[in-house]
Amino acid sequence: MNVENAAIIGAGMAGLTAALALSRRGISCQVIEQAPYLAEVGAGLQLSPNATRILGRLGVLPQLEHVWTEPDMIALASGRTLGRIAHVPVGRSARERWRAPYGVLHRGTLQTVLSAAVSAEPLCSLHLGHRIDRADPATVAAVTGVTPDLIIGADGVWSMVRESITNAPEPDFSRNVAWRFTIASEVAPDFLSPYSVTAFLGPSAHIVSYPLREIGGYNIVAIASGVDPGHTWEAHGDTRQKQILLDQFHGWHPKVIDLLRGTQDAKFWPLYQVSNGAWQNGRNTVLIGDAAHAMMPFAAQGAAMAIEDGWQLALCLSSATSLPAALAAYESVRKARIARVRQRGSFNRFAYHLRGPLRFGRDLVLSLRPPQSLAADMDWLYGYEAS
Ligand SMILES: Cc1cc2nc3c(=O)[nH]c(=O)nc-3n(C[C@H](O)[C@H](O)[C@H](O)COP(=O)(O)OP(=O)(O)OC[C@H]3O[C@@H](n4cnc5c(N)ncnc54)[C@H](O)[C@@H]3O)c2cc1C
Repeated sequence: MNVENAAIIGAGMAGLTAALALSRRGISCQVIEQAPYLAEVGAGLQLSPNATRILGRLGVLPQLEHVWTEPDMIALASGRTLGRIAHVPVGRSARERWRAPYGVLHRGTLQTVLSAAVSAEPLCSLHLGHRIDRADPATVAAVTGVTPDLIIGADGVWSMVRESITNAPEPDFSRNVAWRFTIASEVAPDFLSPYSVTAFLGPSAHIVSYPLREIGGYNIVAIASGVDPGHTWEAHGDTRQKQILLDQFHGWHPKVIDLLRGTQDAKFWPLYQVSNGAWQNGRNTVLIGDAAHAMMPFAAQGAAMAIEDGWQLALCLSSATSLPAALAAYESVRKARIARVRQRGSFNRFAYHLRGPLRFGRDLVLSLRPPQSLAADMDWLYGYEAS
């Protein structure tokens, strides 16, 4: 065994999954989280089969299946007419094709289930309410009482652990902002489907909606250009932000405009990406999740990638001949995978936000593709097995 004790900075999806994956391979994990309690940040989350397959192996899937929704399809629709353009079947089809489910759920549900599993794991300890300001073994040991062999930076897009890695990536504002809000089923407009994840497409903007069983309503995310509010995960939009948003949906179907105009509690997330760079220091520190590769949510894969990272890191730690070799192997495998996922996200960004005549071409091409052929395009992503 290359590592006996790991310290994981951050108890988001990356940190909690890594703690479970490492401990199942016999590595003790001290998870340190700055928040005094694990509160829900954001609203909904799509979990694709590449992520749920791992959650199944970690033994937490039954608790999620109990409360989530498995939509029948991922649909693309016009933001102007609301008519469906194309769809990828998921639901039962996802279980058959990719051997794992596609679920939509509240982020809080996933975090609660993961943190309960970590708390129940004898090799893991969760230290809430401690911010780590220097990623070195002595600083960590002062909090946990254990000197770690390995420090894992799972501390998100504003990672502090990155500072201890030469040539680490840098965060960069994408000039896009995601507005998110929820709406109860009783007052939801009739174009929101309880059976699908739907992406409504328009020039330079799109909206994603899906049902959230836990709240008896829908999660809505609208993505368009926006103003950078600074280092924050989420903020309440002011009147100016809201007007900037509404201006970008000019010409959309009146039911969409009514929905956006009527929101009272919309929050916005500035969308930051993390550039390319080193993810490990060749000795004892490594980055996972958004700390390493925060990406735009156009492929809905950020959390899925964080989950894959934790699983892959555990695999590398248990199979490589030394800790530096394990970190190098992890970085190499994950960088190749992340590059491909980023490419898919960039393609979606381009295709979703097309303007003018290109938009009509896109709709025509997509509408001619059979659903199973669109599903086949996702085999490399959703059918992925870490090795
Ligand atoms: C609008 C939007 C929609 C999205 N939808 C999807 C989706 O449908 N599917 C999907 O897979 N992904 C989605 N994502 C991406 C996904 O939310 C992120 O990729 C994922 O949450 C990253 O998890 P993480 O654990 O790496 O980071 P985080 O969730 O940011 O967790 C980092 C943790 O570290 C803690 N921390 C930070 N600094 C310190 C410190 N110094 N000391 C101690 N603790 C610290 C923080 O408090 C936090 O708890 C979406 C993102 C956005 C913006």
